[in-house]
Amino acid sequence: MPSFATEVKNELARLSYEDSCCRTAELAALLRMGSTLTFGLRRTFGLNFTTENAAVARKALQLLKAEGGGIKTEITVSRSKRLKKNNSYTVQVPPAPEVAGLLEQLGFLQDESLNMDTDIAILKKNCCRIAYLRGAFLGGGSVNKPEASYHLELVTGNFAFSQTLYQILRRMDFPVGITDRKESYIVYLKEGDAVIDFLAMLEAADAVEAFEVARNVKEVRGQVNRLVNCETANLQKAVDAAGRQLAEIEALKGMGLWEKLPRKLRETAEARLENPEASLTELAEILGITKSGASHRMRKLGELSRAARENDEE
Ligand SMILES: [Zn+2]
Repeated sequence: MPSFATEVKNELARLSYEDSCCRTAELAALLRMGSTLTFGLRRTFGLNFTTENAAVARKALQLLKAEGGGIKTEITVSRSKRLKKNNSYTVQVPPAPEVAGLLEQLGFLQDESLNMDTDIAILKKNCCRIAYLRGAFLGGGSVNKPEASYHLELVTGNFAFSQTLYQILRRMDFPVGITDRKESYIVYLKEGDAVIDFLAMLEAADAVEAFEVARNVKEVRGQVNRLVNCETANLQKAVDAAGRQLAEIEALKGMGLWEKLPRKLRETAEARLENPEASLTELAEILGITKSGASHRMRKLGELSRAARENDEE
């Protein structure tokens, strides 16, 4: 079964932007995540984009075709020989003169020199910043399944790119964090609302729904637990009270005071002895009196019992 993160990527890869500006931004982030530049003869450039997700590879291919102005593309699959290791897909753009045009549009090539650091030029509009984040998630994102703790991250080996992603999310008021792990920089979201808002912004409707369902399940489970705990506590209280009453009545009997009890109290004590597990409400029903009446008589029996014991000790 594919991981939840893979499912989210599959969903996002099926979506596409209408405006060329957004497609360019999405492609730029995707390529920043997983591509290397290659160099050909006579100062020509090419690209290699690698991913383990087939849908993401198709997405890269589709964007390169849409924005590449007739560049050639090839896709190769390297099957993993090791068990449980994913296949990897490489989208290749062989070095050719036309590739320079695409690199300029992406902002990777500026005034004939390579720009490996900043994508500010293509991120002026909000629609493009969102598309850029979608590209980044497709290329290097991960998200915990909704039942687990909330965590979404964008992982890249490119420091400047990680800073750009961090700044975009910060300006959008996301509670974003950044850290590094080995050779990678990790831009992450932890709070549940932030993870859901991020996926909603990228229009991952199925993923958002999965989170909402899981959140409801968590809430209902919490409520049920609270109810069960509350009922258990009440039950325990009733059992404790009955136990105490039985002890008090036995003490009265032991001290020979049984015969001296007023009739109503003796009846009540007898009912308790005969029904050691009954609740106070049940006891009141047996005696044909109100619950508060039963409670009053029980208190009276308790007082008599304690008074008798104190007298006994003196
Ligand atoms: Zn745009």
